[in-house]
Amino acid sequence: MPVKENIKQLLQSSDYDRKVTVMGWVRTKREGKNVAFAALNDGSIIHNIQIVIDNAKFDEATIKSITTGSCVQVLGTLVQSMGKGQSSEVQADEIKLLGGADADSYPLQKKGHTLEFLREIAHLRPRTNTFGAVFRIRHHAAFAIHKFFNENGFNWMHTPIITGSDAEGAGEMFRVSTLSPTNPPLNENGDVNYEEDFFGKETNLTVSGQLEAELGALALSKVYTFGPTFRAENSNTTRHLAEFWMIEPEMAFYDITDNMDLAEEFLKYMVQYILNNCKDDLEFLNKMYDKELIQRLESVVNTDFARVTYTEAVDVLLAAKQKFEFKVEWGVDLQSEHEKYLVEQHYKKPVIVVDYPKDIKAFYMRQNEDGKTVRAMDVLFPGIGEIIGGSQREERYELLEKRIDEMNIEKESVWWYLETRKFGTATHSGFGLGFERFVLFVTAMSNIRDVIPFPRTPQNAEF
Ligand code: ATP
Ligand code: MN
Repeated sequence: MPVKENIKQLLQSSDYDRKVTVMGWVRTKREGKNVAFAALNDGSIIHNIQIVIDNAKFDEATIKSITTGSCVQVLGTLVQSMGKGQSSEVQADEIKLLGGADADSYPLQKKGHTLEFLREIAHLRPRTNTFGAVFRIRHHAAFAIHKFFNENGFNWMHTPIITGSDAEGAGEMFRVSTLSPTNPPLNENGDVNYEEDFFGKETNLTVSGQLEAELGALALSKVYTFGPTFRAENSNTTRHLAEFWMIEPEMAFYDITDNMDLAEEFLKYMVQYILNNCKDDLEFLNKMYDKELIQRLESVVNTDFARVTYTEAVDVLLAAKQKFEFKVEWGVDLQSEHEKYLVEQHYKKPVIVVDYPKDIKAFYMRQNEDGKTVRAMDVLFPGIGEIIGGSQREERYELLEKRIDEMNIEKESVWWYLETRKFGTATHSGFGLGFERFVLFVTAMSNIRDVIPFPRTPQNAEF
């Protein structure tokens, strides 16, 4: 069966005066004395196609039934539109109401609903211009990720969603269990006996596919993951979700500089892809939400990111006139206010910070010769703060083992990870890009709940 033509194809077609069938949801309808106009949208493009309804050809009930939100099928003739800004329209011969929408109760009647209100009707919000644009851009970004890595010789690796290791240390985890919550089996000490649980041990939803991706890199050289990630962090911010999507490339034979180069090239490729492929949606978001959006995206593609050490960044912050809520001193983790200052006030472009104090970073990061810092890198973006976190990994067995002991990580749970350092270890690096943070950046949305179809956040798992 041939693929049916959608509204995007019909609007772009110049093959006029032919019979077409068009389906979609009515955005607005205007009734005139002789003709009525319905604006139809099917989500294939931000623009609506205009349906011209000759009142003489239809009974009044049919015309009345075409309410905002209803779904209709129109058979008619595709003609060149005289109205400005529209290329083609459909003169209706037949109209079939596929699904009515009661005018009094359909929630999307009015224009200009707040994003907060639309979050409460996440089942319907994809039918708005804003969310149509955001979700199309999200799709194109996902596609571009696979395209970039495929073109560069990376293998997409499917790392597990359920994990038995809790060593990542990236955040609080969600437990996966089939034990009775009210009456679980207990061991001699009176603790829950996870040996009787489904997997015979404690398991959680993954906070990162990195450790497994490293195993892949030490065999296939270049791999990446792209999948859902879960963090039970109780931080109700505009930048954190409990369930988000992460992209984690991991490369053998890459040191921290190669890693930074890849992160910069990858982000620029992604932004350029969105500029090239999502023009209409970007123009809409630029007009409605942020007049500097497109300009900002172009500037990211065209500027070299600043690269500074953590120590240099701290010096910049200490010298800043601005008062911060969180005190800055060497050794503290950078807060989002600090990241924003660096990017937006000081360097005025994306910044890559490297060589963080080892005490605030994970056990697997490669230790520097100074004994104080590790080869960690964060990429900071305007309006977002941290968009990427990554590092060169510690490939030296003894040093890795020592770090695991120092940080009280259960060695038994990562025996397989340690073995890669025993058998054919190699320099390797990788990073994690939070997909929704990237989508925030390219859509000018300001809350991460507005760039994923059904956000999962503390106290909220509706839909
Ligand atoms: P942050 O400091 O912003 O909480 P993090 O340091 O915990 O992030 P990493 O463990 O380095 O984050 O994860 C890699 C990337 O995943 C981050 O750079 C960010 O883009 C994204 N990310 C992390 N946590 C979340 C979350 N809860 N929701 C959405 N994206 C996230
Ligand atoms: Mn991080």
